Amino acid sequence: MKTFNVPIIYRSPLITAIKNKRRQEDKMKKDFMPTLLDFGPLHIYLARHFGFCYGVENAIEISFRTIEENPGRRIFLLSEMIHNPQVNEDLQLRGLRFLQDTSGKQLIPFDELTPGDIVITPAFGTTLEIEQRLQQAGIPTAQYDTTCPFVEKVWNRSGQIATKGYTVVIHGKPGHEETRATFSHAAAATAAVVIRDMQEAGELAGYITGQKPAQEFYDRFKGQYSQGFDVARDLQRIGVVNQTTMLASETQAIADFLKQVMIQRYALTEENSAEHFADTRDTLCYATNDNQAAVQCMLDTAADLAMVVGGYKSSNTSHLVELCEQRLPTYFIHNEEKILSAEQVLHYDIHNKQELLTTGYLPSKNPVRVLITSGASCPDALVEGVIRRLARYFGSDGIMEEMISRFA
Ligand code: SF4
Repeated sequence: MKTFNVPIIYRSPLITAIKNKRRQEDKMKKDFMPTLLDFGPLHIYLARHFGFCYGVENAIEISFRTIEENPGRRIFLLSEMIHNPQVNEDLQLRGLRFLQDTSGKQLIPFDELTPGDIVITPAFGTTLEIEQRLQQAGIPTAQYDTTCPFVEKVWNRSGQIATKGYTVVIHGKPGHEETRATFSHAAAATAAVVIRDMQEAGELAGYITGQKPAQEFYDRFKGQYSQGFDVARDLQRIGVVNQTTMLASETQAIADFLKQVMIQRYALTEENSAEHFADTRDTLCYATNDNQAAVQCMLDTAADLAMVVGGYKSSNTSHLVELCEQRLPTYFIHNEEKILSAEQVLHYDIHNKQELLTTGYLPSKNPVRVLITSGASCPDALVEGVIRRLARYFGSDGIMEEMISRFA
């Protein structure tokens, strides 16, 4: 896969050495076992796959290069580049400004743009409406478009099923930039509706089968369906695509469930189910698949706790947290600063959307075994920071250089 020029501040000598070694030993990516970092009284198990993905590295390279090559020009990003606060702060410190926040709220009016400005499209992509506004303002969009090719793949998949007369059901978070962009592209070609989870898939099934009155749909899914959506007409033939960073098992379960609903509703068989259900397979990206599979494998290791490093708004990272917390105490942290001491950690609760302070997160035993992973928008340098801080509490930070040489 293509390599990118990512600023050195985001790299980690330790993680780079580990990733290179694992890559060399397992070129076909068949081994999903975690890597053990044996610090004596502390055993860290590092997931086989984590950290910056193709789309994030591509977006970072283009953004930093654009800043470097265009001194004196005003440079904007449509919204956060990726859901990592440090990367976004670094870009802002270099003069880049955001036009919208992550929910789509306008921070700088489009009217203030002039043709000499540069506007970067983030890795999530953007809506057709926003693209049009930029074009009207005389802003060239193609040169600074960092939309991830794996997001575009979902748009293409939606386009393919749209031409065959299917409605596109998008499994995603309705407010997420990527889902808004995918919805906009799908809705330009066919009817589209966003469902957030299995519960909403179940509700949608009620409208497909007619068990729920059609008129209720418009309130229940308000803001989640395309203009002119007609429940009677647009739920007869459907296909499911997803936000690239959803939980793989949930996307699969939703697609399987809706397929069965269509089979029963129209008395179909597996063989002729395509008459009403487009088999799209999942449209998760390789990084989401790899990172989630690596966490599943890492969770087979006996451990005392897990730490997941990443931005709190990051969808792919919160799914890694979800997987871990089903099995053991899990602490979702931005960076090592959240580990206040060997006794206390400040961590994010994804369910109540708030930071919590936990005391006594490290058990008194020897060795303490910690699983660590991070999201696709998290710099490896932050993961190394977490490892260093934990190692310090066990008096093992002195062997960090030796640890690097073990993998080099
Ligand atoms: S998580 Fe996947 S789709 Fe999203 S930017 Fe990374 S590679 Fe692209």
